[in-house]
Amino acid sequence: MSNIEQTLSIIKPDAVERNLTDEIKSVFIKNDLKIKNNKKIHITKDEAAEFYKVHQSKPFYDDLCTYLSSGPIVVMILEGENAILSNRKLMGATDPKKAEENTIRKKFGLSIDKNSVHGSDSKDNAKKEIAFFFKD
Ligand code: UDP
Ligand code: MG
Repeated sequence: MSNIEQTLSIIKPDAVERNLTDEIKSVFIKNDLKIKNNKKIHITKDEAAEFYKVHQSKPFYDDLCTYLSSGPIVVMILEGENAILSNRKLMGATDPKKAEENTIRKKFGLSIDKNSVHGSDSKDNAKKEIAFFFKD
């Protein structure tokens, strides 16, 4: 049975800065994820703190919010068959050193914090994260 989903993808500052946006987008397109909506923005630290609030108790939270607000990011809605899991597989493990071959994080990630991309991890979070960036 078909299961078309939408998920939120972010190209993080380390990747935007290294001009990897088009190369990362082409990975999604080649793997049957359509880019439905797409904008380049620079968020404030407060906005990053709101976006990442599920992580507020973690030791890396403050650095993570500083980092996501440190430069332009590209936020996108990806749509396709099992888009949430499909995007997570294309991204690879959080730590680029542990990410599978040919994943975005393995190829482009610099470190566990500067790991080039974000992707929603569940249907619920995908809905919330899409609404956070694309209110209509
Ligand atoms: N992160 C970090 N240090 C850690 C774990 C995570 O800096 O030890 C950052 C990293 O940028 C990661 C983000 O926090 O992408 C969110 O963490 P999560 O566990 O949700 O990983 P993801 O879903 O991005 O793979
Ligand atoms: Mg996560």
